[in-house]
Amino acid sequence: MSDAKRVDPRRPYRMASSGLRRIVLGEIISGDRLPAGEKLSSSTRSKPLRTNVAASRWHVAIAHSYRGRLDDHAREAIAAAAILAGPETGVIAAVLGPFLEDAALLGADKAVVFPELDASRFQPQREAATIQALLDEYQPVHIFMPDNILGDGDLGRRLIAKNGNSSATHVAEIDATHISIPWSAGSILAGAPLPRFVLLQAGAVDSNLPFLGLGEQILCSGAMGVAEDCRDLGMECPEGASIPLEEADFIVSAGNGVSNVATLEDLARSLGAAVGASRVAVDDGKFPREKQIGASGKTVSATTYFAIGISGAVQHLQGIKVCRHVIAINRDPGAPIVKRADLTVIGDAEEMMQALIARVSQARAQTEAAEVEE
Ligand SMILES: Cc1cc2nc3c(=O)[nH]c(=O)nc-3n(C[C@H](O)[C@H](O)[C@H](O)COP(=O)(O)OP(=O)(O)OC[C@H]3O[C@@H](n4cnc5c(N)ncnc54)[C@H](O)[C@@H]3O)c2cc1C
Repeated sequence: MSDAKRVDPRRPYRMASSGLRRIVLGEIISGDRLPAGEKLSSSTRSKPLRTNVAASRWHVAIAHSYRGRLDDHAREAIAAAAILAGPETGVIAAVLGPFLEDAALLGADKAVVFPELDASRFQPQREAATIQALLDEYQPVHIFMPDNILGDGDLGRRLIAKNGNSSATHVAEIDATHISIPWSAGSILAGAPLPRFVLLQAGAVDSNLPFLGLGEQILCSGAMGVAEDCRDLGMECPEGASIPLEEADFIVSAGNGVSNVATLEDLARSLGAAVGASRVAVDDGKFPREKQIGASGKTVSATTYFAIGISGAVQHLQGIKVCRHVIAINRDPGAPIVKRADLTVIGDAEEMMQALIARVSQARAQTEAAEVEE
């Protein structure tokens, strides 16, 4: 019998900074190297700058923000730009929409922010013209974008069509010289040299970087005054409950500690979130099977996962592995979910949910009153 390790040749690998030795780590960052007003926490202070050398060429990563933040897929595009940048290559993150994050932590030396180009408005020609002006100014060697259906994939293809450069979409693997994309209905990966435009699939790059960018932020109010071929009639927001769990950005999830399903559904409605459940809550008949999250249920990737009365058994945690923020309500401070959660409220689920619903409706009434006054 052979001891040879079996490797699936079709499984894409994930590019991480440790895999590339070209990266030159600079000196340990000190406060005065940061742009004015920038603050780093003590945990990030120990990270070195990626490079100290003045940039003579550029990599640009481009992505829309959502509620002032970039999602994991967008972070991966910036990480790719930073990991593949040599010491003399600066990294620009071009952010369409407001941006409230620390660009240095994402590996960007400059964040060029276009708050007026936020994703809630459909203005493809204006976006393409504005970003094209940025590309014309910096002439980047490589351009990285998340290949998503949220606007970046479309913008990327417009830019590729306009520039007529080498390009690749659906990129599943990337390194300093090559990319691979799924071919033949995904049964094989086809390789090609690293092109100028790279539209990345989610998961191709590890966005957890061991270094910092310079994090300078440039706010560009206004955008190119280009007329659109179409009229934007506004965006319709579907009810949270109608969004499939796999696509939901915000999930309120119930466990055995939730005794009143109606309160949980009220809370989810008032927060605009989708509803999920643990296996025990489903087995109890409180929720349909399609709501079950975990190893034998659905895997979700919400930005925020609100676990109420859920212990956080390993099988449940398996289904929320990639959720960015986990908030929990549990009356047991020793429950495993507390370790996974970024914030836990220790208390009774029903009491906390009622209090939260009251707070949300109070805040909403205040906002509406302020809007009427204006
Ligand atoms: C093969 C296999 C597959 C599985 N697949 C899944 C799966 O896909 N998904 C899944 O979820 N589980 C799965 N499980 C089951 C899993 O092991 C746990 O049993 C289950 O997740 C527990 O659900 P729970 O946390 O809701 O319930 P419990 O374990 O009963 O925990 C309830 C939690 O609520 C808290 N609580 C109780 N009352 C209150 C209150 N009034 N206020 C606040 N907090 C309160 C308690 O402190 C506790 O932490 C699987 C198990 C196996 C063996």
